[in-house]
Amino acid sequence: MKVLATAHGDLPLPAFLPDATRGVLRLLDTEDVRRCGMDAVMVNTLHLSSHPGGSVVRRLGGIHRFMDWDGPVASDSGGFQVLSLITQSESLGSLSDRGFTYRLARGQAKKTLTPEKCIRLQLRLGADLLFCLDECTHPGSDRERQCASVERTVRWARECKAAFTRGLGKRGGEPPRLFAVVQGGNDPDLRRECAERLVGMSFDGYGFGGWPIDEQGRLVEMVEFVAGLLPAEAPKHALGIGKPENVVRCVDLGYDLFDCTIPTRDARHGRLYVFNGPPDTLNLRGDFYHCHYAEDDKHRRDNNPVDETCECLACRRYSRAYLRHLFAIHEPLAGRLATIHNLTFYARLMERLRAGAP
Ligand SMILES: [Zn+2]
Repeated sequence: MKVLATAHGDLPLPAFLPDATRGVLRLLDTEDVRRCGMDAVMVNTLHLSSHPGGSVVRRLGGIHRFMDWDGPVASDSGGFQVLSLITQSESLGSLSDRGFTYRLARGQAKKTLTPEKCIRLQLRLGADLLFCLDECTHPGSDRERQCASVERTVRWARECKAAFTRGLGKRGGEPPRLFAVVQGGNDPDLRRECAERLVGMSFDGYGFGGWPIDEQGRLVEMVEFVAGLLPAEAPKHALGIGKPENVVRCVDLGYDLFDCTIPTRDARHGRLYVFNGPPDTLNLRGDFYHCHYAEDDKHRRDNNPVDETCECLACRRYSRAYLRHLFAIHEPLAGRLATIHNLTFYARLMERLRAGAP
């Protein structure tokens, strides 16, 4: 089995990393997360560097100690978040060859995010898997814009790697891993150029950058194309890809790492993922799951669990009717049980994929 060795244990691949954006998975504590079968989590560098602050996290022993999670932690570069802010409103920031200037909200002081600072922030948190700063573009952007983004992404990756090597110093033990992100929009030549130049710098792993999903919710062809440009043995992260059928497809294409808000966010909105039978009897390349809408009136008197084959807290102890009732009265336990169920679904899915299920 393929694993990613980290200072916090070997991460079996492929792995799904739920988003613990602010150092917490909403409504859960880390014991719940572990019990759901999750091996690693993803945190948001900018949020944590802003609250409570990277130096606070470091002083309190690093992100693992701070949030009481002893497994691997990945941190994003913050680039995508800043770019989303700038796209929302130019008054929230700007982009140059040096990096980004931004404010997380109107009225806040402006900050900068350069490649070096991005790595410094992630090292300060003490994450096991770090990402280089990159510039994500919209697939609809013109070629000139895509070219500029590839240039910046490659240059920033080089600067990130230098900052990473400096930042590690003489630190012993298993070092954190640094991943670079491939950009280039929908242009195969630019994607190839970006991938080749990044692979030439030899990173510990690579991520698919840009928009992986089209308007119909399907994977774009570039996801496959980029996987083919990267070394077979290098871990590959499919950033932001999370619908179960897309995860399966990406694993077939050679991707090993996933992070996405889908299971947790959907859970809070009463959308639960349910296997169409015991997972070991299902063909994962066909219709293998459906969604259970917890708030639906038809569950009012339904005494069955959400998923009979699921051993999670919600399915073991409560009925569809009770879960529906909790959602109806806006009880936070509803979101908590639903989140536990969805994460358990993803853990079971990854377990099947790791076992090489058809
Ligand atoms: Zn369940």
